[in-house]
Amino acid sequence: MKITSIKTHLCHNAGHRYWIFTEIHTDEGITGVSEVGMNQEKTVATAIGSLAEYLLGKDPTRIEEHFEKLYRTGYWVGTIRCTAISAVEMALWDILGKSLGVPVYRLLGGPTRDQIAVYAHVVPEGEGTRSQKLAQGAKLMVERGYRAVKMDPFGRDYRRGVSDPHFPPYIKETEHFPNQVIDLACQDVGAVREAVGPNVDIMVDFHGKLSPANAIRLGETLEQFRLLFIEDPVPPENVDGLVLVSRALSTPVCAGERLVTVYGFRELLNKQAVAVINPDVTNVGGISEARKVAAMAKASYITVAPHNPNGPLATAASVHLAASIPNFLMLERRGLIEDVARADEVGSPPLQMQDGKLLLPTGPGWGVELNAEALARYANQEFSSEPL
Ligand SMILES: [Mg+2]
Repeated sequence: MKITSIKTHLCHNAGHRYWIFTEIHTDEGITGVSEVGMNQEKTVATAIGSLAEYLLGKDPTRIEEHFEKLYRTGYWVGTIRCTAISAVEMALWDILGKSLGVPVYRLLGGPTRDQIAVYAHVVPEGEGTRSQKLAQGAKLMVERGYRAVKMDPFGRDYRRGVSDPHFPPYIKETEHFPNQVIDLACQDVGAVREAVGPNVDIMVDFHGKLSPANAIRLGETLEQFRLLFIEDPVPPENVDGLVLVSRALSTPVCAGERLVTVYGFRELLNKQAVAVINPDVTNVGGISEARKVAAMAKASYITVAPHNPNGPLATAASVHLAASIPNFLMLERRGLIEDVARADEVGSPPLQMQDGKLLLPTGPGWGVELNAEALARYANQEFSSEPL
């Protein structure tokens, strides 16, 4: 079997981003598909196209060899190239699964579990104060079947230039961090805890905005809510900052969504800077690299909660990853009705959820295909690219 062509599609995701889909065609009529996510989507699409020069005419089943060569010959490697390599690597796994007639997780020695626990994002819903709206948003997610939710304590829209009346429009690690911000964040998380009860897991994502000192101040006040984890309490560049926060709190700390390859995770894991890592299969280097990172984490009893604010194929690939590693914790999923509806329209058959868990797809490869009609409907729509 030989690779004959590579095609990339940008598909509007019903929110403020594109899903980046890749198709790799072969001379045996098997097409592998994948999805990656990043805010510089046009640049990523170009980067994926640039890998064709190496891949055309190659045997698509030699996945590990292709990863290594694409990584090493890149010379300048970074998140964009690793995201492009992830797109290729995952499409190759889909081809291999389809050529052998089995789901990818079978090829990886799985499944390690039959259902994949997921969590959804809390966004404000209805009327009232911000805390009341968040509580209603969390309740809605529980009504839709989720058993775990994640929230941002600093207001949903601060990054989009719409300042929440409660919070400064920008919170940076070097800034003064008023007690009022801590009190309001605490109020919001408390309202969500009260709304969902003691048995629904809550995670809080600081989105890498605070200094270690401020993250500890806020983290200490949130201990009472028995969070599953606090995510990205400090910016990701300095692992020692994470170590300070982790050692100061009893709440587990999670980080890693912006890191790529085993080398990116090396220091974080060697220092046991966190209790949970959240690699994203669409950036880290694909399925094999995510599994290697998970294996490194396993050696330190660190669990894996894959980052996945993505669409249907990335979610499917993350499910296969989760089904193939022993130290899986929980998978992120966009749970808003419009997000799930768009994903179910573009990816077919849609993933099924029961009791807050996604069921394993049973078809060959990912078990989820791109719906060409839906893809054409949402391709290249106007959008405004925004950070993170
Ligand atoms: Mg995050």
